[in-house]
Amino acid sequence: GGGAVADAQVRLHGVGKVFMAGEPPAPLRALGPLDLELRRGEFFAVVGPSGCGKSTLLELIAGLSVATEGAIDFEGRAIAGEPPDGIGVVFQDDASLPWLDVASNVAFGLRRASLGKEERELRVRNVLRMVGLSDFASTYPAQLSGGMRQRVCIARTLVMQPRLILLDEPLSNLDAKLREEMRVELKKLIKQVSISALYVTHDQEEAFTISDAVVVMDAGKILQYGA
Ligand code: ADP
Ligand code: MG
Repeated sequence: GGGAVADAQVRLHGVGKVFMAGEPPAPLRALGPLDLELRRGEFFAVVGPSGCGKSTLLELIAGLSVATEGAIDFEGRAIAGEPPDGIGVVFQDDASLPWLDVASNVAFGLRRASLGKEERELRVRNVLRMVGLSDFASTYPAQLSGGMRQRVCIARTLVMQPRLILLDEPLSNLDAKLREEMRVELKKLIKQVSISALYVTHDQEEAFTISDAVVVMDAGKILQYGA
């Protein structure tokens, strides 16, 4: 384990995930059991090879999947298979909605929030400015580059004002040069909104340049904690 952290925002204790997979179905351990604590305000990276359990870990913290053992809490409350308030997720795939323009894509997550029209529009404007898409509010995703579409997805998550953002290889579909640019941009952006981040990647250089702290994973286990 990583030792007790006084101001931990996320705590995993003995957390594991076993899938029933194959034909005939047999148990496959994708993760753990492991302990992990994430500090508030920290930009945390998890790095490891494909298939080592990174997405499984992220989905458990996001409340998108349920652990087969152990306990996870966020700000002192148990996460049990339901996406908690205050946690936002960005995936590798472009998740923008093609039938909505950029502003409506970003506003989409706010549709159930009890906000007035003006507050909603203000939030969308602010976030679009932060990700550099102010001039593209009425543009449709199909007319944007891959990097811009990924900015839309980041904006959609940030507009919800999460206190923790989980990012699963968000830059992996971009070409190398753009990936490096957006790495710097994303780090600045997360610092600017001063939220915590858990960033999952198979790219070691990316993990170390983007984060304050890195854990190295392999075969469902945490091998090493480093700063
Ligand atoms: P990573 O994100 O590091 O590439 P994953 O967390 O996606 O790794 O996968 C970890 C392991 O769990 C892999 O062996 C994968 O095949 C397996 N796995 C992931 N999701 C499922 C699932 N829904 N059903 C069965 N096996 C799964
Ligand atoms: Mg993955």
